[in-house]
Amino acid sequence: MASATRYDVTREQLSDLLAGTPRYRVDQVWSGLYSRLGEPESWTDLPKPLRSDLARLLPGALTPVTESISDRGDTVKFLWELEGGSRIETVLMLYRDRATVCISSQAGCAMGCGFCATGQAGFTRHLTPGEIIEQVVRATERARALDRRVSNVVFMGMGEPLANEAAVWTAVERIHGDLGLSARHITISTVGIIPGIRALAARPLPVNLAVSLHAADDALRDELVPINRRYPIDDLVAACREYLGVRNRRISFEWAMIDGVNDRDSDARELAAICRRLRPAAHVNLIPLNPTPGYPTRGSSLKRVHEFRDELERLGANATVRQNRGTDIHAACGQLAAGQPVAVGGSRTRAGERQSAAEAASTGGDGEQLGCDP
Ligand code: SF4
Repeated sequence: MASATRYDVTREQLSDLLAGTPRYRVDQVWSGLYSRLGEPESWTDLPKPLRSDLARLLPGALTPVTESISDRGDTVKFLWELEGGSRIETVLMLYRDRATVCISSQAGCAMGCGFCATGQAGFTRHLTPGEIIEQVVRATERARALDRRVSNVVFMGMGEPLANEAAVWTAVERIHGDLGLSARHITISTVGIIPGIRALAARPLPVNLAVSLHAADDALRDELVPINRRYPIDDLVAACREYLGVRNRRISFEWAMIDGVNDRDSDARELAAICRRLRPAAHVNLIPLNPTPGYPTRGSSLKRVHEFRDELERLGANATVRQNRGTDIHAACGQLAAGQPVAVGGSRTRAGERQSAAEAASTGGDGEQLGCDP
């Protein structure tokens, strides 16, 4: 269990930590943490002894390891080390009209989606609220240095957020209430943990829900997203409908397009049927599969992605092809592994049979690649 760090403490805990410090000073410290940002040493409106105390009492959670910038300069991937040595990644994506931070909620992931580098590396531990919040703070500092403002936060990095729902929700409340981001600009992505979706529906803020669907029939989804064996598609869609009933927000379905596996016309028909059950609130995001070492099967060609989108729309479902972001620095959807070794082998072929590790390694992966973009 990680110990409490700078952004783990509540306002009340901060008052206790700084017992004897005047109330207005405690307020200044809180404002330093959530408005000024940076290191306590730089908050020069505070007396020097207090700044020294803060550096000792409120250690940061994230030790920078590397920072990678995409060729176009619009995507920054941060690799952090946590207490205990686990590593996680955070991605800042700069668009013309907005800046989005993609954050991790766990070190590793237990969900085992075969095409995802995080899943291939296995689960290490849940992140604390402070470790989650600090990712947004550090990315915000980076954005400010570029004269930009973070406008969106997406829980689409490493880990399954709804397997760590309590910590994720504490972080959401702080990102909303103290960092000042609208809940409507916060998206929680899940692979389909139904109790987590229900927990989210009972929470008071209207965050966006994104469901990583990837297949619209149970046999294929069991294979691509193993948690489907516990929470099959029909039950998942029913939980999405309940969420919509409470939240009155749009649900997005994420669909990593895999050549010959889930990009067939029959897949479009099944997916469109699911969307019609949730009409008009469901929206499909199409993302050609990004290559990872443990799943060399190709992403669909851009031509096929657009044909698939057109077919969905013809069948009455709303769909968007997502922009390519950060693949040159392994910052795109499903590519975050934080430098962990991933298992290479036993991958899916175009026809859906298993292939040997040697065959898999020779298959390569050069599909069109898109990043995670809400
Ligand atoms: S796709 Fe998401 S849920 Fe699945 S293994 Fe990767 S991080 Fe975990």
